[in-house]
Amino acid sequence: MNSSSFHLGLIGYPLGHSLSPKIHAAALKACGLRGDYSLFPIHPDDKQGLKDLLNRVRSGEITGLNVTIPHKQNVIPLLDELTPTAQAIGAVNTIYRHGEKLIGENTDAAGFLSDLKKNIGNWKLGIGKLALVLGAGGAARAVIYALLHDGWQVTLAARRIEQAGQLANSFTNYKLQVTSYETFQPSNLPTFNLLINTTPVGMSPNIEASPLPENIVLNKNTVVYDLVYNPRETKLVKDARANGLQATTGLGMLIEQAALAFEIWTGCNPPRYFLFESVGATRSD
Ligand code: NAP
Repeated sequence: MNSSSFHLGLIGYPLGHSLSPKIHAAALKACGLRGDYSLFPIHPDDKQGLKDLLNRVRSGEITGLNVTIPHKQNVIPLLDELTPTAQAIGAVNTIYRHGEKLIGENTDAAGFLSDLKKNIGNWKLGIGKLALVLGAGGAARAVIYALLHDGWQVTLAARRIEQAGQLANSFTNYKLQVTSYETFQPSNLPTFNLLINTTPVGMSPNIEASPLPENIVLNKNTVVYDLVYNPRETKLVKDARANGLQATTGLGMLIEQAALAFEIWTGCNPPRYFLFESVGATRSD
């Protein structure tokens, strides 16, 4: 057993329902490491609180931190360097120390892609590479970065076309199609192989909501990936499965992004089975 102790945690606000402490406690145990994972709820206006916490990483008192809403961008000016991935996405979800420097990384992109590929492999699908992404916020940036780097052609649909346009323009080496929710046509959809929801629509407690307009019937070959993971089966996923489609929520992405961050901090790649089990789910490696 490694003799050092790993002090890990999550910055965000609010943090009441976070699954991360359970996932990282399971990772520590599975890797035979000592340590803890704490929640650090820091109000968006508490700039000094954020600075003080990051100084505890700089001093080595805290080994590493995850970052969630609303601090994924706020932390950037307080760090010394960003990895190329975090730089390209413009958001940080993992902070670690390298020598004297505080580094910001984004494991959402790799976490999403890894889980998407596992699902597509398990479903034994040989699918094309046309994706429709709903929503244009922080998670959409990570998902689109991952898809573009994996050779997908991406169309982005958002309720605010200007937000979608800004996101598309930030990926200068790639050409994204942009559309607004209003210009969605049922006849547009059957050409997509993958539909990804990156909006919070359908998240608990609003579990009867779906981000898809009701008049749209998905093509039988479209795979549905909903980043929302609470509830375990969102309305979008339930409706897709009822129509015979392959569909998943974002729990696998949550586990993958956590495992990748954990490996950065500790050097141990935790077995996924234990991480799923820690949140009462059953998917294995
Ligand atoms: P965000 O930055 O606030 O972006 C949310 C996006 O959804 C924005 O484009 C927003 O548009 C749009 N949106 C919100 N409500 C909408 C509605 N009623 N109809 C249409 N569009 C709507 O949030 P985020 O960080 O991207 O997170 C989005 C979701 O992904 C959350 O549910 C989060 O829990 C989930 N997530 C999951 C994982 C995972 O590991 N599975 C990782 C990251 C995020 P406006 O700007 O116009 O409001």
